[in-house]
Amino acid sequence: LFVDVELTDGAEVRLDGSHAHYLLKVMRIREGQPVKLFDDRSGEYLAHVTTLGKRDLILLVDGLTRPREQVPDLWLCAAPIKKDRFAWIAEKATELGVARMIPVQTERTQNPMGKPEKLRAHMIEAAEQCERTSLPELEETTKLDALLKAWPADRHLFFADERIFESGEGSFRKALVAHEGPAAILIGPEGGFSDAENAAIRALSQTVPVSLGPRILRADTAAVAAISLWMAGRGD
Ligand code: SAM
Repeated sequence: LFVDVELTDGAEVRLDGSHAHYLLKVMRIREGQPVKLFDDRSGEYLAHVTTLGKRDLILLVDGLTRPREQVPDLWLCAAPIKKDRFAWIAEKATELGVARMIPVQTERTQNPMGKPEKLRAHMIEAAEQCERTSLPELEETTKLDALLKAWPADRHLFFADERIFESGEGSFRKALVAHEGPAAILIGPEGGFSDAENAAIRALSQTVPVSLGPRILRADTAAVAAISLWMAGRGD
């Protein structure tokens, strides 16, 4: 379970709210039973229940079991889409080991991103389920032109667009071989990128156009496909 406090050996942790409800009502936890906690700071710890309340419980931290993991240096820059589908992208990006997620406002973005804490809650849930000991950083929603203007010189931008397939460029395998190092994946909204956006993205020297095949994928499918391909090729 994620706790948003720095964990140390011997620390006392009080859980209430959904975590307490899950342990008390679903897991029917008993005193002395072990619980794994992670703080997204130092790592994952083993703790055990010392006191059971009606709606809360106290745990005592026994010791570090795994240090906070370094995930591969991959960012996901995605235009917000329908809320539940964008939450799904955030969950899959967390499970697949993405380091940072940046919602990108584009011309055809129809859905506002919604509250960041809601998206972060989906990331926390996904991290707890997949036993990841770090959370992706979730950035503020950024306009595409501002993102491109401030783009880091040393980071490749894998630009996924369904029009790339016809041009014969965009082999993901070749892109991975040719572009090692820190990377990001850029995925458009349901309506895709405009021609002007396409030109602005390609004008960036760090941009690497990549195709995800001949079919038009939903944005959420494209995000998971691109992350998985990158992780398979460079996630070492
Ligand atoms: N513009 C298209 C349209 O209006 O039907 C579809 C956009 S698609 C639903 C959303 C995003 O998924 C695209 O902007 C692109 O980033 C990505 N995508 C979908 N299919 C892709 C493919 N075959 N290759 C690369 N990227 C793809």
